[in-house]
Amino acid sequence: MKIAVLPGDGIGPEIVAQAVKVLNVLNLDLQMEEAPIGGAGYEAAGDPLPDTTLALAKAADAVLLGAVGDWKYDALPRDKRPERGLLRIRKELNLFANLRPALLYAELASASTLKPEVVSGLDLMIVRELTGDIYFGQPRGISTLENGEREGINTMRYNESEIRRIGHVAFRIAMKRNRKVCSVDKANVLEATELWRQVMIEVARDYPQVELSHMYVDNAAMQLVRAPKQFDVMVTGNIFGDILSDEASMLTGSIGMLPSASLDADNKGMYEPSHGSAPDIAGKDIANPLATILSAAMMLRYTFNDENNAARIEDAVKKTLAQGYRTADIHTDGCRKVRCSEMGDAVVAALRG
Ligand code: NAD
Repeated sequence: MKIAVLPGDGIGPEIVAQAVKVLNVLNLDLQMEEAPIGGAGYEAAGDPLPDTTLALAKAADAVLLGAVGDWKYDALPRDKRPERGLLRIRKELNLFANLRPALLYAELASASTLKPEVVSGLDLMIVRELTGDIYFGQPRGISTLENGEREGINTMRYNESEIRRIGHVAFRIAMKRNRKVCSVDKANVLEATELWRQVMIEVARDYPQVELSHMYVDNAAMQLVRAPKQFDVMVTGNIFGDILSDEASMLTGSIGMLPSASLDADNKGMYEPSHGSAPDIAGKDIANPLATILSAAMMLRYTFNDENNAARIEDAVKKTLAQGYRTADIHTDGCRKVRCSEMGDAVVAALRG
């Protein structure tokens, strides 16, 4: 099992080190090799995605990423900026399925801005299509009309096969969970998503055990804050998923807790926390490493099909929280405030125990 480890910038190296520590305790046959990406790639090779890093990622079964970006690179030309490395690696690896779980640990229910009874026990998976839709559709651009007025154009486009493959990802995940898929679209207004709905209904025929429902995106945005526990798996296109997954992340209170996975058609994947490189707290050993540790658990589950060890990591995180360990971002009175590396050690101890 080959893993390309790409710590990136800011808090990336600190949080990835904790996830690596946790993976090492499991005594699996893992080959982990590190390479620079983002600002670190630019510093090392003048490119946010150096060729050697891309080659390593392509040869690996999975990629474990920290985060990229720092304000000090804001003045670089666009193609040299750290974020460009991230967009390119997703495209090069053909990672079309983005999985973002929103799971609220009972111990952290008070960290959410919603009432504890609304979010306590929340366990939702958002499956977002990542390589199509209005973000990539042609024609696009800003042009000037004959009357001299400027016009901006983007095109929402989805073909059948793009919808079908993300549909299968969502249904397969639902089979391992509570067997409910809610497909989010705007089929009443947008033809591209009318097709989305038709294809989802076709895909559902292969999964008779899974209950499929449909929801318009405006209603979905409302339902996520009104009664989020009604959802099991939510599947949607790129732009709706972009917005809804950020909304869902806030249900859980802290961005430092949320892992993510981006998968290709063969379940090769890139695993990373949902947050960024947090330059404001970088190098201080105070970041929350749990999103990255939980991303490593997703890697074992989705790429290596190792449900047992994935669940062991998740249980160890739960146990650590139950023991009262908290990094600064999730700390409340009466809990034990720990540093990033101490949180990693606590998860390791919970796994050993
Ligand atoms: P951010 O997610 O890095 O930080 C937002 C806030 O959350 C900050 O106050 C930060 O300290 C805090 N935070 C984030 N992760 C945390 C953690 N694990 N533990 C404790 N606190 C945490 O977003 P930003 O400030 O908007 O962006 C900073 C940089 O990150 C930018 O250069 C941006 O482009 C980049 N970015 C990268 C990714 C990625 O690599 N996937 C995603 C988003 C932003």
